[in-house]
Amino acid sequence: PKTVERIAAGEVVERPASVVKELVENSLDADASRVEVAVQRGGKDGIRVTDDGIGMSEDEVRRAVEKHTTSKIRDIEDLESGVATLGFRGEALHAIGAVSRLTIKTRPRGGDTGTELRVEGGDVAEVKPAGCPEGTTIEVEDLFYNVPARRKYLKQDGTEFAHVNDVVTSYALANPDVRVSLTHDDRETFATTGQGDLQSTVMSVYGREVAKGMVEVDPDESDENDSNLPDGPLESVSGLVSHPETTRASNDYVTTYVNGRYVRSGTVRDAIVDAYGNQLAPDRYPFAVFFLELPADTVDVNVHPRKMEVRFADSDGVREQVQTAVEEALLREGI
Ligand code: ADP
Ligand code: MG
Repeated sequence: PKTVERIAAGEVVERPASVVKELVENSLDADASRVEVAVQRGGKDGIRVTDDGIGMSEDEVRRAVEKHTTSKIRDIEDLESGVATLGFRGEALHAIGAVSRLTIKTRPRGGDTGTELRVEGGDVAEVKPAGCPEGTTIEVEDLFYNVPARRKYLKQDGTEFAHVNDVVTSYALANPDVRVSLTHDDRETFATTGQGDLQSTVMSVYGREVAKGMVEVDPDESDENDSNLPDGPLESVSGLVSHPETTRASNDYVTTYVNGRYVRSGTVRDAIVDAYGNQLAPDRYPFAVFFLELPADTVDVNVHPRKMEVRFADSDGVREQVQTAVEEALLREGI
C-alpha cells in the first residue's frame, strides 16, 4: 500500500496488543460465545483469533477488509456516548491488512460454505472457498514486515506479550459469559469457563490463591431496602477486591470498566487503594475488578483505539463513592 496508508494504519495498530484488541472486539461484536487468542513471540510473528460468532459470507468478508467499511450502524448518540458496539470506525481490519499478512477464514452461522481470504501488505491476494467451522478465524503474520521502522520499535517478546495479556484479560473479565482463552508460544496462559460469574472468571485468570480471598463490592445488594451507595455521580458500583494480603507491586491488577468499557483510571485506583487504609503495605496494590455505571454526559471516555482514558466531570465524587463502597465491603468481611 501507499506510504500514507501505512502511516494511517499506524494510528490503529501500534503493536501486537492493538491488533489483538481489535480482533477480540470484533469477535465479541459478532456474538461469539468462545474467543481463542493464540500468539507467537509476543504476537510479533503470529496472532490468531478464533471465534464461534456470526461469521461472514464471501461478500461480507471482501467488504470487511476494504477501507472504512463497517457493518455496524451507529447513530450520533452512540458516537457521543462512546459505548455502543465496541468497534467504531470500520478501519481496523483494513489497517491490519496493510501492515501484515492477514488471513481470514469464516463461515456464516447456518451457512454451508466457508471462505478464505488472504491480504498481503494491503492487497487482496486470494479469495477461495474453504472448509471451516461456523465463525471466524483471523490470522495475522509478520506484523510490520513492510514497515521496518515500526518493526524495529517493537519490544522484546515478553514485553509485547504482557500487553497482549492485559488486553485479553480485560475482555475476559468483562465478559464472564464468554469462554476466552490465551495461548503464548503454544502454552496456555489462561482459559475461562464462560459460565457467567465474575468470581470463577477471576479464578481462571488470576488463579485460586488470588480468587479465594476476594471480597464482593456490591452496595446495591448489601442492603435489603435501599442502595448503600452514597450520593454522587455513580449510578452503580460493583466488583471484587482482593484480601489486603493478596497484593502485587504493580497496579496493573486494578481493572476498571466504565459503562462497560475498559479504562485505566488513576481516580478509581487511588480510591480503592485508600479504602484499604494502612492494611495495605506501602507500594503494594490489590487485585480489583470494578464496574462503574454513570450517565454518559458526566464522563468522557476517550475511544481512540490506542487509549483507554477516562475523565469524570466530578472525579472527587466518583472517588468518594468508590472508596466508601470498598470500605463498606471490607468492613462487612471484618477486614
Ligand atoms: P468495525 O468493527 O468498526 O466495523 P473492522 O475493520 O474492525 O470495523 O471490521 C469490519 C467489519 O468486518 C465489521 O463491521 C464486521 O462486519 C466484519 N467482521 C470483522 N471481524 C468479524 C468477526 N470476527 N466475525 C464477524 N464479522 C466480522
Ligand atoms: Mg472492529
